[in-house]
Amino acid sequence: MWTVDDSTDIYGIENWGSGYFFINYQGHVAIAPHKDRKSSIDVMDLIDEVEYAKDIEFPVLVRFPQILEHRIVEINEAFLGAIQEFQYPGGYQPVFPMKVNQRKEVIEYTITYGKKYNIGLEVGTKAELLAALALGMPKEALIICNGYKDEDYLKLALSITNVNNIILVVDLFEEIFDVIRYARELGVRPKLGMRIKLFSRGSGRWVESGGESAKFGLVTSEALQILRILAEVGLIDMLKMIHFHIGSQITEVRTITTAVTEASRIYAKVVKVTKSIEYLNVGGGLAVDYNGSKTATFSSKNYSLREYANDIVYNIQKICDEEEVPYPTIVSESGRATAAYHSMLIFKIIGKKNSKEAFLKAPTEEDPVQLDDLCSAFKEMNLSNYKEHFHDALQNREDLYNAFNLGNIGLEERAKGETLFWMVCKKAAQFARQAEDESEDFTELRKIVSQKYIGNFSLFQSVPDMWGVNQIFPVMPLHRLREMPCEHGTIVDLTCDSDGEVKVYAGDSEGKEYLELHPLIKDEDYYVGIFLIGAYQDTLGDYHNLLGLANEVHVLVEGEKYKVLHKVKGDTCKVLLDFFKYDTRDYINRILRTCKEKGECIDKKELDQIEAELNKAMGGYTYFTKLNGHTKIKESDDRPCMP
Ligand SMILES: *Cc1c(COP(=O)(O)O)cnc(C)c1O
Repeated sequence: MWTVDDSTDIYGIENWGSGYFFINYQGHVAIAPHKDRKSSIDVMDLIDEVEYAKDIEFPVLVRFPQILEHRIVEINEAFLGAIQEFQYPGGYQPVFPMKVNQRKEVIEYTITYGKKYNIGLEVGTKAELLAALALGMPKEALIICNGYKDEDYLKLALSITNVNNIILVVDLFEEIFDVIRYARELGVRPKLGMRIKLFSRGSGRWVESGGESAKFGLVTSEALQILRILAEVGLIDMLKMIHFHIGSQITEVRTITTAVTEASRIYAKVVKVTKSIEYLNVGGGLAVDYNGSKTATFSSKNYSLREYANDIVYNIQKICDEEEVPYPTIVSESGRATAAYHSMLIFKIIGKKNSKEAFLKAPTEEDPVQLDDLCSAFKEMNLSNYKEHFHDALQNREDLYNAFNLGNIGLEERAKGETLFWMVCKKAAQFARQAEDESEDFTELRKIVSQKYIGNFSLFQSVPDMWGVNQIFPVMPLHRLREMPCEHGTIVDLTCDSDGEVKVYAGDSEGKEYLELHPLIKDEDYYVGIFLIGAYQDTLGDYHNLLGLANEVHVLVEGEKYKVLHKVKGDTCKVLLDFFKYDTRDYINRILRTCKEKGECIDKKELDQIEAELNKAMGGYTYFTKLNGHTKIKESDDRPCMP
C-alpha cells in the first residue's frame, strides 16, 4: 500500500519545505505558515474555493504573507540569539533588498511584519528608491542606496536626507565627486557608506559578485582615497557604513567566515581613521535549500540559519576584540532567505504528450512479422526476460521504420508498430523498476516511456531562474498523495519553446531527471505546484509567447481556518498587447478597412461575430481558460497502475 509517508519521501517535501509544507493525512499538500501543523491550510480547500468562486482561473500564484513574517522573525531571532550567546555588545538591523521582490504588497508585508525589528530597505536604482519612498517607512528604518547613481538618483536621495534615514553607499569611486558636489548644492550632509571589494568571493552560481573582478565595490586604494577626500571636504564624520556583498546563494559556510573576517578587519582599520562608522553591513548571500539536500551544491546550502548568524557575530566580535575597536551594529540584507518560501504557483495539467496507447488496433494476418513479435513480447514478458524483449523491441522498431522508408509498409502499420513498441516499453519499465534495475537499459527505457505532462503555466514568467540559471525549484502534485505515482515524466509549459520544460526535480542532491506523477483521470483536474518562488522570480519573469502575470491570491491562516486576504487579477491579453505597443482599440475598424481595400464585402453577422470573439479573447486571461465550461481533462487514455 502506498502511504503519505511514501509520497513525503519520494518528493522530499519535508527536506525542502523547511517546516512550511507537508502532506496531510488526506494526501494533500498543506501549508503551515508558522511551521505549526495545528495551524495549517489544506491546499485543496483553497483550490476548491477558487474553483467555486469562479472569479479567477488557474494558474494561480498563492502568497502567504505569514510565511514572510515568519522568515523575518526567524532571521532576526537568529541574530539576536547569536548576539546573546556571544554577549556581543553591538546590535543588529535587518534590511530587505528590493531587487529580490519589488511587488508592492510584498514590500508592504515586509515593512509591516518587520516593524518591530525596524526593518529597512536596500535599493539599487532610482525607480526602486521611488518605490521605497511611496511606502511610508518609519523614519528610523534604514534606506540603503546602492548601485550606480546618476544625477537624478543622487539628488533625490540627497534631497530627502533629513527626512529619512538614508545611507548613500559609494559603489563606484567616481561617485564620490558627484555626491560631494550635489550635497553642497543642496546644502545637506548625507550619511555615507563604502562598498568594499573583498578578496574573498562566494561560491556557486553568483561567485562573480565578489572577489577582485566584481562589478561593484571599491578596491583598497580607492577606499583610502575616499577617506582622504572626505576628510578634506569635512564630511569624514558622515561615513557611517562599511558594506560588502559577495553574491547570492552562498552554499558553503566557510565562504561566509572568510568574507566576514576580511570585512571586519577592514572595518577595524577604517574605524581607527574615523570613529563615525556605526554599521558593518554584511550584505546578502544567506542561501535557501531549494532541493533539500543540505549540501554545498548550487541549489542547496550546507549550514543552518543559526550557524550563519553565529558565524557572522562571532567573527566580527573576535576581530573587534583583537583590534580593540568599538563594536558595530551589524546589518544584513537577506533577500532570498526572507522571500523565497512565501509564494507558490498552482496550475493544472491540461494533457499529456507521448502517450500512444490510445489508438491500438490488433495486428492482422497481413501485418509485417515485427508487429506480431511486438505483440508476443507484450504478452510473454516477465521479470526474468523483460531485458531481452526490450532489446528485441528496439530491433523490431528499427526494422519497421526501415520498411516504411523503403515504401514497404504504410501509415497504418507504422502507427500500430509505434503503439505496440510503446506498450512493450512501458511494461518493461515496470519490470525494471520492480527489479530495481540500474543499468543503462533502464535509463533508456525511462526516457522512452517518460511522458510530458503539459502544465497550464509559463516557466519563463513564473520561474525564470529555472530557465536562466538552471536553478532547481521543487515541483510536485498537490493531491492524490495516498496513491502510488506510477507514471513518470516531465512537466512542460504552454510556451512553444522546448526550454519551457522542468528538467530537474528536487529530491536528491544532484536533482532528478523525472518526476513521479499520477495517471490522469477523465473529468478530474490534476493540480501541480511549484514552490519557493518568492525570491527574484516575480520581476525577473518575462512575457515569452505573450503569457502574462498569473492571477494571485493572498492567504492568511488562522488555526484551522484561513482567510483570502486579497485576490489580484493577472494580465489579460489586452494588457500585454498594450504593453508591447499594439493599438488594440482599433482592431475591428482595421479589419473593415482591409476588406474595403480588397474590395471584399463582409456581412454584418460575420463582422459581429468577429467583434465578439475579439473582445472576448482580448479581455481574457493569457493562459488556457475554460473549455466548454471547464478545463478538466476531456479524455484520458491512462490505464490504472499496476500494483
Ligand atoms: C542582491 C543583493 C542582496 C540580496 O542577496 P540575497 O542573497 O538574496 O540575500 C543583498 N545586498 C545587495 C547589495 C545585493 O545586491
